[in-house]
Amino acid sequence: MCSGRVDLAHILRAFARGADGVFIGGCRLGECNYVTHGNYHALNLTLLGRKILEHIGVDPRRLQIQFMSGGEGNRFVEVVDAFVKQVKALGPLGKAEGVEPSKMAEALQEVTRLVPYIKMEKHDKLTARLDDAAAYESHFTLEEVERLLDEVVSYYIDPEKCQACMICSRRCPVDAIDGAKNRIHVIDQDRCIKCGTCMEACPPLFGAVCRVVGEPVPPPPAEEQRTIDRKGAKKKAASTEEAAS
Ligand code: SF4
Ligand code: SF4
Repeated sequence: MCSGRVDLAHILRAFARGADGVFIGGCRLGECNYVTHGNYHALNLTLLGRKILEHIGVDPRRLQIQFMSGGEGNRFVEVVDAFVKQVKALGPLGKAEGVEPSKMAEALQEVTRLVPYIKMEKHDKLTARLDDAAAYESHFTLEEVERLLDEVVSYYIDPEKCQACMICSRRCPVDAIDGAKNRIHVIDQDRCIKCGTCMEACPPLFGAVCRVVGEPVPPPPAEEQRTIDRKGAKKKAASTEEAAS
């Protein structure tokens, strides 16, 4: 497939499933047949992917990208051969890094879950066109990736404020919000891609969607506490008025 179709999730998933190395071959930069020039995007993803791998303890040399034309069969053989030799020298994933394979797979799965968020946060750099190879190494830094993954944004719905208007659940692009009429809405944290749409969509009058940075969200209310008793509330309000008069 076209290197422009390669996604960070493909790369991380391959490692999570036990690949010892991932090699991406793309057309030469500047020679893409399409206006999209997706090979620049593949390059940026690889540069970011290498820093993410480093952050979670995987040797970044296990991920490589090379560019060549369809007529450079010899070059293809040479670069793949050199890469395979390098990966063999590094040894099996995890074992060579001194990390238990199950722990490494867990860390890789966790970061794969954050890919949509990472891509949103790094959108500008991921769409840059790097023509100077000297700029590759500094395009993404380890510190930047550490900050990004340590300060992950999460959203949750305050059960005291939610009015079950259903606006957020209709707008969520990945159906991560569970709710219905008269049911306090709850965000499924495993499905949420942290786009923030629900926070923008929730009417300011309710302001029920909250954002936290770098910390876990509070647990959602128990199922039996999610029903909003509007009739009961009306009756209660009426009896309070009666008592006052
Ligand atoms: S942050 Fe985005 S993905 Fe997550 S629940 Fe809100 S709208 Fe859905
Ligand atoms: S938009 Fe706000 S008030 Fe409406 S259901 Fe979502 S969180 Fe609740």
